[in-house]
Amino acid sequence: MLVLEKAPQFAEIGAGIQLGPNAFHAFDYFGIGAAARAMAVYIDQIRLMDALTAEEIMHIDLGESFRTRFGNPYAVVHRGDLYKVFLTACREHPRIALRVSSEVTGYDQDGSSVTVRLASGETANGAALIGADGLWSNVRKQVIGDGPPRVSGHTTYRSVIPAERMAEDLRWNAATLWAGPKCHLVHYPLSGWKVFNLVITCHNDAPEPVAGKPVSKEEVRKGFDHVHEKARQIIDLGTDWKLWVLCDRDPAENWVDGRVALLGDAAHPMLQYMAQGACMAMEDAVCLSHMVAAHPGRIEAALAAYCARRVLRTTRVQLQSRAIGEHIYHPAGAHAQLRNAVMRAKTQDEWYETLQWLYGGNGLDEMNFG
Ligand SMILES: Cc1cc2nc3c(=O)[nH]c(=O)nc-3n(C[C@H](O)[C@H](O)[C@H](O)COP(=O)(O)OP(=O)(O)OC[C@H]3O[C@@H](n4cnc5c(N)ncnc54)[C@H](O)[C@@H]3O)c2cc1C
Repeated sequence: MLVLEKAPQFAEIGAGIQLGPNAFHAFDYFGIGAAARAMAVYIDQIRLMDALTAEEIMHIDLGESFRTRFGNPYAVVHRGDLYKVFLTACREHPRIALRVSSEVTGYDQDGSSVTVRLASGETANGAALIGADGLWSNVRKQVIGDGPPRVSGHTTYRSVIPAERMAEDLRWNAATLWAGPKCHLVHYPLSGWKVFNLVITCHNDAPEPVAGKPVSKEEVRKGFDHVHEKARQIIDLGTDWKLWVLCDRDPAENWVDGRVALLGDAAHPMLQYMAQGACMAMEDAVCLSHMVAAHPGRIEAALAAYCARRVLRTTRVQLQSRAIGEHIYHPAGAHAQLRNAVMRAKTQDEWYETLQWLYGGNGLDEMNFG
């Protein structure tokens, strides 16, 4: 297998990432379960706060009963640490070759193989092409051709805070979400509790896609004037802020063209509100591997079966991520009061039941969309 990476080196940007139990199913399948588990911080709760009153709305316990129910933990890891685990595993694998500075611009196929064209003018040939080239996928342009991604108008700012600077009464071992009108904050401990990852978002109708642009503290504060002082104090701790304007796409029915298939954000980019984009990409990879094994010598049938098994589950996550943004993360007034009342009324068992379709699955079953 040949991996073609556009960037001049293999590196991951951004700090934290949340991983549901479904991600751990995938790690075990890839044979990196122990290494990935060693990097993780095992949080006790997912906690939802009202950003106007600083009161807890609800939480989901991630302790023993959660792990028993879903067979795996919920955890947070540093993206760079996790990336290294994957990179090492690929470097050590005798059948994987890695190439950087290799931007794929398009492909040709003739029924028995695929040839990719690179920006350098070179080509590479193989039995199949998996376009795992993210939100702005060039491979998708040719497989689906549905134009640029949809700009959500939501602006996300990311920073990392040394753990000792976080107010003591907020040093929770939890993925904490403060939900406010048209804005929210997320924080959780990372890297053996050395830092808190801080990701804050406001729905400011930003018109253009942006990725990783440095931004001043003053600019960041603008969308959060109306939230509780406690939440604003957390924002004030952030430094070296970077800005993203979030994009996603409407779900597509088919991401396969003969011997070419899409995977991860290239296939089903989603807003981050279910913390599942990377988890879905890993589930895709597990499913793809199973389908290739189940259709020996029939790569086109394998890719079609892979897409058929994945499309409803990833569609649900794409659409539900948008809905969560609207109905849980950003509502105001009566809409927010209703959110609080509905979410408070659920027991832990009812929350586990709600999450069963997502965390209880590994992306392989045909009926895995809930
Ligand atoms: C703020 C934020 C928070 C998030 N939090 C979570 C979370 O908690 N949990 C979770 O599961 N997900 C989360 N996600 C989503 C997650 O980051 C993405 O879904 C995931 O990175 C997608 O992985 P991917 O490999 O499909 O694409 P990418 O990570 O975008 O990787 C694509 C790779 O392809 C390379 N590339 C691009 N074009 C080409 C080309 N033409 N030729 C060759 N190489 C190319 C790129 O350089 C890159 O290395 C979050 C996203 C955001 C924005």
